[in-house]
Amino acid sequence: MLREALYYKKLQNQSVRCTLCPHDCIINNGKSGICKVRKNKDGILYSLNYEKLSAVHIDPIEKKPLYHFYPGKNILSLGSLGCNLKCNYCQNSHISQFNPEKEYSVNNLSPEIIIKEAERIRNNIGIAYTYNEPIVWYEYMLETAIKAKKHHLKNIVVSNGFINSEPLAELLPYIDAFNIDLKAFTEDFYTEQTKSSLQPVLNTVKTIAAAEKHIEITNLIIPGLNDDSNTFKKMIKELVKINGRNTILHLSRYFPAYKSEIHRTPKDTLLNLYNYAKKHLNFVYLGNIKSETGNNTYCPNCGGLLITRTSAFTRISGLSENRCINCNHKIPVEL
Ligand code: SF4
Repeated sequence: MLREALYYKKLQNQSVRCTLCPHDCIINNGKSGICKVRKNKDGILYSLNYEKLSAVHIDPIEKKPLYHFYPGKNILSLGSLGCNLKCNYCQNSHISQFNPEKEYSVNNLSPEIIIKEAERIRNNIGIAYTYNEPIVWYEYMLETAIKAKKHHLKNIVVSNGFINSEPLAELLPYIDAFNIDLKAFTEDFYTEQTKSSLQPVLNTVKTIAAAEKHIEITNLIIPGLNDDSNTFKKMIKELVKINGRNTILHLSRYFPAYKSEIHRTPKDTLLNLYNYAKKHLNFVYLGNIKSETGNNTYCPNCGGLLITRTSAFTRISGLSENRCINCNHKIPVEL
């Protein structure tokens, strides 16, 4: 089903300018934008992936990753096709680097069907827009999120954060939690590795934090590309500035994928950055790597164990509502 896109302007000679993300693509009649899922037909911009779902899974919320938002609960997770970034190391390239010439196996599912499914699943708190980049699925995500809210379901967005401020402002009231992938802390990295830019992503993080929405940050550490300790320190400093010591940060181990042949992140590199981040942030976690303690939540005041996470289970043992049972310290966690 084609759906006329939100956020575009008509130009001369049936061209349009898409204003959804900071690429601001100018798209001539018959052409698509950088994301390949927004196409100009006779001067009207259409979303090509509206109601097209490449994946529908019930995931533990920890998998998003979100560690401080209803730990131990499930989330109905949806993906579509397309992305506005071009990361050489993309971990989901089969759906994100969409080729419109190819046939894709997708299910056409309306927001109403998804909401019914979300309500049926046991221990499920709502819907996550994830897997590929949900920003380029904006119309479907917004419509589903608005309807889901009316059914008292939570909405979660897992995103690269590369979106313009106006569409973000329209979406924000309906989204309960975000995980934003902060890929690096230099413009060079964003330009060379993703064909986008850092500043709009930082603006997104600031806007979400200022709106006091739940936000967690993921940073995938890639050897030689974004593992410089000085740059990492600057990133941590900026995160503290934006959201304080309670910023929740997931440091993730990279594995070669898509066009990248760089070897996986050495364990020591990840641990060094993790140990540095922990000195400045209260909640830092390790991803894609086995760790005895790197997935648990500890009280920043008394050091007591609050939440244990393994690949098999999440156990909340040290919290009473959102306070440490040992010292009564308030923890930024939704239960
Ligand atoms: S959403 Fe797609 S078409 Fe629109 S500006 Fe971004 S990359 Fe271009």
